Amino acid sequence: MNILFVSAEVAPFAKTGGLGDVSAAIPRYLSRLGHDVRVVLPLYKRVREYAAKHNVHFTRVLDNVSVQLGQRKVVFSIVEAKLPGEGVPVSVYFVAQPSLFDRAGIYTSDADEHLRFSLLQWAALKLCQFQQFSPDIVHANDWQTALLPLMIKTAFKWDRLFANTKSVLTIHNIGHQGSFASSALPDTGLSEVSEHFHQEQLKEGRINFLLTGILYADAITTVSPTYAREITTPEHGVGLDGFLRGRGAAVMGILNGIDEDVWSPEKDKLIPQRYSADTVELKEGNKRELLRKMGLPYHPRAPVYGIVSRMAWQKGFDLCMEVLPRLLTQHDVQVVVLGSGEPKYEEFFSRMARELPHKVAFHQGFSEPLAHLIEAGSDFFLMPSRYEPCGLNQMYSLRYGTIPIVHKTGGLADTVRTVRGTRYEHGNGISFEHFDATAFKWALGYSLELWGTGDGADRARFREIQRRAMRDDWGWPRRIGDFVRAYRAVLPR
Ligand code: ADP
Repeated sequence: MNILFVSAEVAPFAKTGGLGDVSAAIPRYLSRLGHDVRVVLPLYKRVREYAAKHNVHFTRVLDNVSVQLGQRKVVFSIVEAKLPGEGVPVSVYFVAQPSLFDRAGIYTSDADEHLRFSLLQWAALKLCQFQQFSPDIVHANDWQTALLPLMIKTAFKWDRLFANTKSVLTIHNIGHQGSFASSALPDTGLSEVSEHFHQEQLKEGRINFLLTGILYADAITTVSPTYAREITTPEHGVGLDGFLRGRGAAVMGILNGIDEDVWSPEKDKLIPQRYSADTVELKEGNKRELLRKMGLPYHPRAPVYGIVSRMAWQKGFDLCMEVLPRLLTQHDVQVVVLGSGEPKYEEFFSRMARELPHKVAFHQGFSEPLAHLIEAGSDFFLMPSRYEPCGLNQMYSLRYGTIPIVHKTGGLADTVRTVRGTRYEHGNGISFEHFDATAFKWALGYSLELWGTGDGADRARFREIQRRAMRDDWGWPRRIGDFVRAYRAVLPR
C-alpha cells in the first residue's frame, strides 16, 4: 500500500509525548512489511536544532510552493531526511515555513495555531501531487491533521491521484480538539467547502478540527480498546461522544506498541547496565547510577518509585500531592521525578525534594537519557492518570521490570493486571479502580507489601514478579497487523 502519514510529532525529531514515539514507530514497522510510507512533519525550530546536533542530512524536495490560506498567500518548501533506525529507511518530509514553524515549541497558543497546522495538511497533499504519489491511505493523527479526510473528499477531489484514497484518523488524545472561532475557517483554505463543516457549530461561531475528522475519516482508530469504549461515553468523550457513537463500527481501538529498538533493557544504549528477564538482578546497577545522578543516597532496601511525565492535570498528580508526603515520611522509600508542565505540580515536587533531600529528587525538564535511566533504575513506576488514552510509560516500565502502579483507565486498564495469588503468582503490576486518595494509598501500601523487606526471600519473590512483567510482549510486530487490517477494511476490494 501507499501510505501518507501526517503528524505534528515524530521522534526523535520532534516529540512532547507518546504521539512522537508512535508516529515514528508505525511508519517504521509498516515499511518493514513492504508498504511505501511517507511521513510529513513541520520543520520546527527544534527539528533544525536536532538535525544540527546529530548531523542529519536534508535533501531539498520542493522549493517555494504557495498556497492561499484565507487572506494569506503562504509560501513553503519541503526537505527530506531519513528516520533514524534499523531496517528499511523511511522518508520524512519536513514542511519549511520559518514564520509559522520557527518557534520555541511544537505547539503554541499563538493566534495563528490553526493556520500552522492547516499549512501542514495542504503541504502534505501538495507533496503527493508533486511526487505523483497516489496514497491508498492518508493516515491523520489528532486534531492537527484532522482536516485531511475532508480535504481529500472536497478540495483535492478533482485530482485523480486521490480517486481511490481512503483516510484513517487516529485519536491519540480527545482532550485536544483544535477548536477555534469560526473566523478561522478561511485560513484553513476550505472556505469554498464550508458547507461540509458541522453546521450547528458554525452557527455557534466555532470550528473544530477533530470533529471534522471524526465526521469524514473512513475509519477512526484510537490507541487502546478501553479508550475506544470510553470516548463514546459523555464522561470521557469531551463533547464528541455522540459523534463517535454515530460512527459506530468505524471507531476501533488498537493498542499502541513499544519500539523495542529504542526501548528494551537488552539493547538500550542510554543505560549503563543492560539486562534481561534472566539477569534482572543486574538492574541494580542502573538503580545505583540513577540515584547517584539524581544526588540521592543508595539504600538497597528502599524501593525507588519513578515518574516520567508531562505535568498535566490529566496525569493525576493531584493524588501524588495528597498521598506522597505521608508515604515518604512514614516509610523508607525514594521518589525520582522527571517532567515539566503546570507550575503547581512542578512546585510540589521541587518542595518535596527540598524538604526530603535524601528521599526525593526532581529534574524539571525533558531528557530522553534520564527517562531511560528512570525506567531502568526504578523499582516501581507511578502513573495515577485521571485518564490515559494508551500510555507508553507503563509498557516501557513492564519491559524494564519496573512494576507500574496505575489508575485503571484507558490503555492502563488494558496493559496492567494487578499482582495476586497466595504467592503473588499472577499479574504484572498494581492497578487501582477509583481515582481517589484512598485507592492510591492502597496501591502504594500494596507495593510495599510486594517489596517486603527488600532483602533475601522477599527480594527473590519481587524479582520473580519483575521477570513475569518483563516477559509480556508489547512490541510493534504484534500490533502493526491491526493497522494493516484497519487500512484494508476501508480500501475498495
Ligand atoms: P503522553 O503522550 O500523554 O505524554 P505517554 O505515556 O503515551 O503519555 O508517552 C509519554 C512519552 O513521552 C514517553 O516516551 C515518555 O518517556 C516521554 N516523556 C514524557 N515526559 C518526558 C520528559 N520530561 N523527558 C523525557 N521524556 C518524557
